[in-house]
Amino acid sequence: MLPMASPEIDALTQALARLPGLGPRSARRAVLHLLKKRETALTPLLRALELVDERLSTCHVCGNVDTSDPCSICADPRRDERSLCVVEEVADLWALERSRLFPGRFHVLGGRLSALDGVRPEDLSIDRLVARISAGGIDEVVLATNATLEGQTTAHYIAERLEGLPVRLTRLAHGLPVGGELDYLDEGTLAQALRARRPID
Ligand SMILES: [Zn+2]
Repeated sequence: MLPMASPEIDALTQALARLPGLGPRSARRAVLHLLKKRETALTPLLRALELVDERLSTCHVCGNVDTSDPCSICADPRRDERSLCVVEEVADLWALERSRLFPGRFHVLGGRLSALDGVRPEDLSIDRLVARISAGGIDEVVLATNATLEGQTTAHYIAERLEGLPVRLTRLAHGLPVGGELDYLDEGTLAQALRARRPID
């Protein structure tokens, strides 16, 4: 990739170029920066990567990815345990956390139902969600799946599965762009959708 670079530097550039949002050009710039700023950029990055790699885990309660299990959200006693927000992916959880508006805890499904991609209910953590809610102590479940056809199908399926359980089901307000994925929304729009969440009919 870099004609003058050693195989090691080439390998680093290629690894970075495969990251989402980068690409060969950005990767080359990043590598050059790391090489020039060894002490202030390369070493701290290496240390951070090592630490995360050592401690990386998936939270057995909510499915979040963190460096502790239970994750820092599940372990935080200040979070409102009576309110649970159901999202498709960890990226959606992180997006909602960036909005700082949801005081409760989360449940990550690990995807969305899709006939096209062959994703069935048993492929998602829906049973675990039902068990979690059946155990009691939760008043409100916010179904924050994406505003896509598959996201909405997933929300309806979960609503059916939760029928009869003593929880209030809500969903994010319309105003989310149709087909919109949480991760791509700006924090203001997301906060607005969360604030104006409404009961599922
Ligand atoms: Zn967790």
